[in-house]
Amino acid sequence: MTKPGYRIDPADPEAFRRAFHELAAACLDRVEQARALPWVPKPETMADTVALGSDEPGLGEAEVFAMMRGEVMPYATGNTHPRFFGWVHGTGQPVGVAAEMVAAAMNSNLGGRDHGAMAVEQSVIDWSRRMAGLPEGASGLLTTGTSQATILALSAARMKLFGDAVRKDGIAGLGRVRVYCVDGAHACIEKAMEVMGHGSCAARHIPEGPDGAMDMAALEAAIAEDRAARILPMAVVGTAGSVNTGNFDRLDAIAGLCGREGLWFHVDGAFGFWAVLAEAPWCDLVRGVDRADSIAADFHKWIGVPYDCGMVLMRDGDLHRRTFSTRPAYLEGQGAGLGGGETWFTDYGLELSRGFRALKVWAAIKAAGVPALSATITDNCRQAAMMAELVEASEVLELAQPVQANVCCFYLTRGEASAVATALQLSGEAVFSTTTLNGRECLRAAIVNHRTTEEDIRLAVAAVEREVRAAG
Ligand SMILES: *Cc1c(COP(=O)(O)O)cnc(C)c1O
Repeated sequence: MTKPGYRIDPADPEAFRRAFHELAAACLDRVEQARALPWVPKPETMADTVALGSDEPGLGEAEVFAMMRGEVMPYATGNTHPRFFGWVHGTGQPVGVAAEMVAAAMNSNLGGRDHGAMAVEQSVIDWSRRMAGLPEGASGLLTTGTSQATILALSAARMKLFGDAVRKDGIAGLGRVRVYCVDGAHACIEKAMEVMGHGSCAARHIPEGPDGAMDMAALEAAIAEDRAARILPMAVVGTAGSVNTGNFDRLDAIAGLCGREGLWFHVDGAFGFWAVLAEAPWCDLVRGVDRADSIAADFHKWIGVPYDCGMVLMRDGDLHRRTFSTRPAYLEGQGAGLGGGETWFTDYGLELSRGFRALKVWAAIKAAGVPALSATITDNCRQAAMMAELVEASEVLELAQPVQANVCCFYLTRGEASAVATALQLSGEAVFSTTTLNGRECLRAAIVNHRTTEEDIRLAVAAVEREVRAAG
């Protein structure tokens, strides 16, 4: 049993294989039954159930498989369900379950070196670059998500502004810098400025205009005001699909202004970037994204790749590499052999050791195909528009603002939005999240769900109406 070399590997490969097949079948059951499996609260005993002792005896694989299946798997976030519209949570494609298994079996490290997984990530980056309309020579990296991608992008923007010496000298001598974004922009922009040492006050929020996009005149005024106060403008972040309202900034206009002002143009397109795949009129919302210096987007939201995976794309691949490349002697590349390979991803980001996230993305694109991804994204936009129509037709609901793409926010004429959200989450009928617009709490649906049908939209809105009526 404890033969060296076999302490960890299964002692009985046949028994392991049987148990594994059973677990695989249970995973497939879960995926197939996704429509019948909404979020359920975890048992109060969950923490105890999964607690690890300091003298864990080792239960063996079969028993652990049974625990994962019976005591962990049922208590998921629920975003695999067709009426999950909360926050912005991707649904997860079944093909990703298989890809994760293959990736784990290979256990590749994509920091660098010359092996097959590297070619797959390169292929995903190249596909994404072409979808964005960025030229050859642009670079990219898969990340945990848009939050990390934002740090990478804004770090490159800083290198562009201050030169390569900033890596050695740090920021002490730089003075105050500014990054501009719309009022409803994601908190990851502030967080990036904190992590980079400039502080969250380096992110300046610009009000929305009447169309819900960043007010360009206000942006220009803010830049001029900062320059006059000797604060150095560094970048403008265009939000393509804001997390709160789903609004899109006018990327073309921002690109023009950044060109005139000599500023870096970054696009936060966590989910909204993928409107590039949608039919008109929705694809028009991202017109100008091909003029960005950098783009951050997620595969785990609208593309439906299992968590987690996002990406950064950068127009200037050489600058991207110079921002992060560090090769100590023990990592020096060779001409040939495993230690060779031209692109080492560690030169493009924060991590040295990196997993094979690219495989689930590649498999998702390859299996579904671009037309199906496009149709799904277009459907979600139509469904959000349909939800808005149902809300407008309802006597107890009120649309909070026009729907631009896939996010629909609405007020309740009575009762509390948060109480209704909770009731529907607990009943398993639908997951909405809440937000506050114009000082009023509202329900918010962000539809990035390939399982949602028009019937799901009708059921969810009807359930909300019922709860509102019950409230008084
Ligand atoms: C989700 C989201 C982010 C953060 O992305 P993560 O992948 O969760 O790190 C940033 N911006 C927007 C607009 C988002 O919706």
